[in-house]
Amino acid sequence: MSSQNGASHNGGLTLWFTGLSGAGKSTIAEIVEAELRNRGLRVEVLDGDVVRTNLSKGLGFSKQDRDTNIRRIAFVADLLSRNGVVAITAAISPYREIRDEARAVMRDRFVEIYVKASVEECARRDVKGLYEKAFKGEIKEFTGVSDPYEPPLDPEITIDTEAQTVQDSAAQVLAYVDSRVQVPA
Ligand code: ADP
Repeated sequence: MSSQNGASHNGGLTLWFTGLSGAGKSTIAEIVEAELRNRGLRVEVLDGDVVRTNLSKGLGFSKQDRDTNIRRIAFVADLLSRNGVVAITAAISPYREIRDEARAVMRDRFVEIYVKASVEECARRDVKGLYEKAFKGEIKEFTGVSDPYEPPLDPEITIDTEAQTVQDSAAQVLAYVDSRVQVPA
């Protein structure tokens, strides 16, 4: 629970990054994680790719499997954040309804961060070579190409990674966290 001024009572928050593959979620999350640890906060990252190799191993990319994956991430993020940890999630989380479900559970511990970059820009970066395959039709159900992405309507933070540097993007998130969490003395 949070106090009335919006400061997190025990430091627990969930920083929920959402955006296309290659938009910059993991890159920003990693910097934010390191910086928050330096400040003495307890932090855990639930990265989309990492979760899919363990917690959600075996799940695919149908709507049903994507929803299950995101519900699992939200479940763990809730456990962590209600116990004073800053939980950072960095999964595409394409469906608004499931993100809103997570928000309903975590209420004011939930901080939605829209990591915004166009499909064209993500394809130009093509960090993992996936867009090329998706455009050739070699990957079915690829978010932004052959599967939907529903951007947040009212996120706490929007980061435009086509206009901002990585450092500026991380600084924007950190400034928000500073306004919500009191760093331990
Ligand atoms: P995601 O986790 O969203 O799939 P990644 O973080 O793996 O994306 O990849 C994002 C790529 O975009 C990286 O190569 C990163 O260096 C680049 N990039 C360019 N500008 C930014 C920015 N402002 N914030 C984050 N990443 C950026």
